[in-house]
Order: sequence, then structure tokens, then C-alpha cells
Amino acid sequence: MSERVFLSPPWMGGNEREMVEAAFASNYIAPCGPMVDAFEEAFAQSVALPHACALSSCSAALDLLFHELNIQKGDRVFCSDLTFVASVASAVRRGAEPVFIDCDKTSWTMDPDLLGEALADARRDNRLPKAVIAVDLYGQCCDYGRIENLCAEHGVPLIIDAAEAVGATYKGRPAGNAGLAAVYSFNGNKIITTSGGGMLASRDASLVARATKRAQQSREPKVWYEHEELGYNYRMSNILAAIGIAQLRMLPEIVRRKRQIFARYGERLRDHPEIRFMPEASYGEPTRWLTVAQIEAHDPNLLIQTLEGANIESRPIWKPMHLQPVFRGARVYGGAIGERLFKTGLCLPSGAGLSTFDIDRICAILKDCLR
Ligand SMILES: *Cc1c(COP(=O)(O)O)cnc(C)c1O
Repeated sequence: MSERVFLSPPWMGGNEREMVEAAFASNYIAPCGPMVDAFEEAFAQSVALPHACALSSCSAALDLLFHELNIQKGDRVFCSDLTFVASVASAVRRGAEPVFIDCDKTSWTMDPDLLGEALADARRDNRLPKAVIAVDLYGQCCDYGRIENLCAEHGVPLIIDAAEAVGATYKGRPAGNAGLAAVYSFNGNKIITTSGGGMLASRDASLVARATKRAQQSREPKVWYEHEELGYNYRMSNILAAIGIAQLRMLPEIVRRKRQIFARYGERLRDHPEIRFMPEASYGEPTRWLTVAQIEAHDPNLLIQTLEGANIESRPIWKPMHLQPVFRGARVYGGAIGERLFKTGLCLPSGAGLSTFDIDRICAILKDCLR
């Protein structure tokens, strides 16, 4: 049997090893050091935000932001319905009530019309959310302009969950360059990886400084260990930051490859009108972190099983949050579009190192199933 084709494996195409060697040579084998500083600086520059803090995960970055916003029992947060649970998990763990906002058909990201409706209702009930978490899905930015305006109009802080969209743009602005702050993921399957890791970035220097302090157990600047509040141990390791620096340099090449992979799938499956790929919103350039398609009149689970039989990993689209047992009873605005995408959607192998041979093999299997 041929080697397993993974959905989105890491692609170490740069000088990751040399950077890790250099980190070893410096003996900063710790959650601080010159690589962490350099990675933060380079990343901040790449997303055109002045301040960034490297963390152990994107989930940690979100946790720090929810702490910053003092989200607690009785508060509400509005979040994209079609996402990974981490977007909202830590806010709910703090006691907040989540309200989910469906996506729109043209971008598969948060529908600004529904967000407007939800905010207007909330204002009428005098229960505005403490935060809106808008998610950049599968490498495509949500409509920053419209979502920012709505949040500003109601005075609600906006967090961009750009975990899946490193390298994407919105009207020329890099992913996450909107709202109060943005979070990014460098998990093993994301577009660039440090094995596990995340970043918090913002225009607000004091916000990032507070988050950085909390990520280090809220230690006060004293010779002894002094604490005025409780924090976390969330900083990124210097070794992993070394990988991150090298990966970030490769980002343009990885995006180019991902978009090429998407184009090849499109070409090969052109004569199957029942396959509709995730649309590209007119306002930006997505990375195609994953090639995602909607296949009407076919059960994606059967396709997934068939691909699995050939040792190929594929996956359904995210299951909408309002359908998750853990959020049973939560309020949702819309919901039908995300449900439909979940029922009909398929994420195809999209690793930056995926060969045309494998893409063609995958397409041949799909065509066979669809016949
Ligand atoms: C992967 C992901 C996260 C979590 O990232 P971690 O680094 O694994 O904590 C959060 N939000 C979205 C949308 C994601 O896809």
C-alpha cells in the first residue's frame, strides 16, 4: 500500500533544522530567548501589526484575550458558528453564554447581515456581548470592513480568529489586521507550524504587554517572585520559535503551493458540476490552507471512507457549533448554511508537499465514486 496521504502535514521546506541547531547552540532551551523575540518581531511585521506575543497555542492566545476582556459568568460572546471549538471554548469555560452567527454563502465566513441583526437585538435587550469572535475560515478572511463597522457602532470589541488564515489578505491587509486583536495558530496541521504554538497580535501595546505578563504567571518586575494577580504558563519555547522563524520565511512559497494544489483539483474535477469549491470572496486573497468542496447529492462520509481505503486522509467540514452537544440550547442566528456545508462538505488533502501524482490519484478516486 502506498504511503499515507495526510490532510495537511507540516512542510519543512526551509532552514528549520539549522534554526533549531542555532537555538540549541545558544542554550536558550526555555520559554523565552532570542528566537522568541525574533519570531515575534518578524511575525508582527508580516501581519502589519506593531505588537505580538508568541504563545504555546492559539487557544492560549484566546484565553488571554478573554481574560483581558474580563469575560465572566452572565456575559455573552458572539462567535462564528462554522469554526473549530477553540474559537469560543475558553470564553464559555469562563461562564459566558455563546451566541452563534451563521456564515454567508459567498465566503463561508460570518454573515455581517446576521451579525448586525444579532447586535441590534442585543442592544434592544440591553445585553450586548463582551466580544465578537469572527473566524477566518480555511484560509479566507471574513469581511473585516463590515464586521469592524458593526462592532464599532455598538462599541463591542472584535477578536479575529485567524488561526487558519496566516498568509491570507483582506483588501491588501494581512489576515488578523482588524479589530482589537487577532490570534494565530502554528499547530502541526496549520499553514505554518512550530509543532504547536500560537500568536496574539494587536495595535494596542499595553494589551499585548498585559497578555505577555499573564502568559508568564503575572510575575511583577521584582527581584523576588511577586504576584498581584494570577496568570498562566503560556509562552512559546525558544526551540519552537526557531522553527517558526524558518517557517514564516517559507510562507509565500507555501501559499503559492497551496493555491496551486487548489487549482489542480479544480482543473481535474472541472467536469463535475456537483462539486463546488469554497468560493473566494471578492475582497481578498485566500491561501487555500485546505482545498474544501461541497459535493451535492453525495454523502461525504462515503467519499471519506473510500479515500481512507486508499490510505488518504480527508475530512468533513467543521461541524457547526450550534449542533455540538456541548452547546445544546445555545442561540444561533441563521444556521442552515453551516448545516448544509457540514452535510455536503469535504476537506481534501492539501499539504504543501502534495504531488500532482497524488492529487490526480485522489481526483480519480472521487470521479469513480461520483459516477
Ligand atoms: C486550529 C484552530 C484554533 C486553535 O489553535 P491551537 O493552536 O491548536 O490552539 C483556533 N481556532 C481555529 C479556527 C482553528 O482552526
